[in-house]
Amino acid sequence: MSRNSANSDSKNTASKRFDLDAHLTGAVRGGLHADPATGALLTPIYQSTTYRQDAVGVHKGHTYSRASNPTVSALEEALGTLEDTPPAVCFATGMAAISAIFLALLKSGDHVVLSDVVYGGTVRLFDQVLSHFGLEASFVDTADPAAVKTAIRPSTRMVFIETPANPTLKLTDVEAIAKITRPAGLLLVVDNTFLTPLLLRPLDLGADITLLSTTKYIEGHNATVGGSIACRDERILDRIRLVRKTLGSIQSPHEAWLTARGIKTLPLRLQQHSRAAQIVAEWLEKHPDVSQVHYPGLTGFPQHDLAERQHALHGGMLSFELKLGAEAGIALMNAVRLCVLAENLGAAETLITHPVSMTHGDVPREMRERIGITDGLVRLSVGLEDPRDIIADLSQALDVARKTEPVAVYSSTR
Ligand code: PLP
Repeated sequence: MSRNSANSDSKNTASKRFDLDAHLTGAVRGGLHADPATGALLTPIYQSTTYRQDAVGVHKGHTYSRASNPTVSALEEALGTLEDTPPAVCFATGMAAISAIFLALLKSGDHVVLSDVVYGGTVRLFDQVLSHFGLEASFVDTADPAAVKTAIRPSTRMVFIETPANPTLKLTDVEAIAKITRPAGLLLVVDNTFLTPLLLRPLDLGADITLLSTTKYIEGHNATVGGSIACRDERILDRIRLVRKTLGSIQSPHEAWLTARGIKTLPLRLQQHSRAAQIVAEWLEKHPDVSQVHYPGLTGFPQHDLAERQHALHGGMLSFELKLGAEAGIALMNAVRLCVLAENLGAAETLITHPVSMTHGDVPREMRERIGITDGLVRLSVGLEDPRDIIADLSQALDVARKTEPVAVYSSTR
């Protein structure tokens, strides 16, 4: 862990970009206040819809759990500690957080520039929902700042990037895009789900808003769904909270409690996820049946230099393709025994995912083909098992895939 100096006692913004140890205390202690009534160290699960008021207009800060809840507030404080922001705003899911950003900060007729490779749900949100309300989107290659500049129109209000992007791991240079958005008065939003604020610090690189699907690494145990938004501008946070209260998309106290528990081990888990993913990626790269491995930590990754400049570590996500094509990729995913064929990522268990039939099934085929989400692309969320066991499983699954008769390739309905 060359970037993770145990000797560093500097916890300023610059050191937090590359020093995971600078996050250890905040991850364990952020939002932790012993319960004044009982001394309970962890904020209890406040399973209450409403809060008795002392007199009309006089209360202790919470009035109704669609607006706020003490357990959710403790999580929001913990996330704010990680992000170096005021308390974050937590949502029932990552998609609820993404929806709130657009609904809170845009109006009919506004235009957004988005990364062409993003989570499929974000594409579906524009394609099948927000477009009905007069919001316009251009999906462009945000790895190329010139393409972002060209896509900006007089009606553009926001640039929304995902880096590393799901599922091809394409990177966007956050600082380079901020140099375009800041002078133009556009909001820069970063979906930081893959790396979390521990491994990538978009707000320190010039972004205005970051969001997380806390479903993934933040909670980390395949136990909850959730989302969060962090920002240093209180006016934006007020607007986001208003939209959350109005739409009714706050996270439940039980999910918030589990998510806050996950944060305590986040720095430790991210170190192991990153170490294991590097080992698995290097093994896959050398395997004769594998044609391409996408992992930012590989020296052969086309944007490796940017990854080294921008990330503290490279996280646990990778994707790959087989020389024998889509049928073999699908045979491999059907043959794993330790890895679990499932949607989700960022959890203790290694998950193998087929983006075309799962996470990106609603992305139109033409768009998928243009951005490299092929029918045979295999996405791997490297978990916390012994990486040698993960490799042994992939090895036996590759043997099966090599011998499997070609089957009809999965074909999405779109
Ligand atoms: N952003 C990214 C990068 C994702 O991978 C996902 C889900 O996979 C989401 C957002 C949506 O999050 P959720 O599933 O919690 O709604």
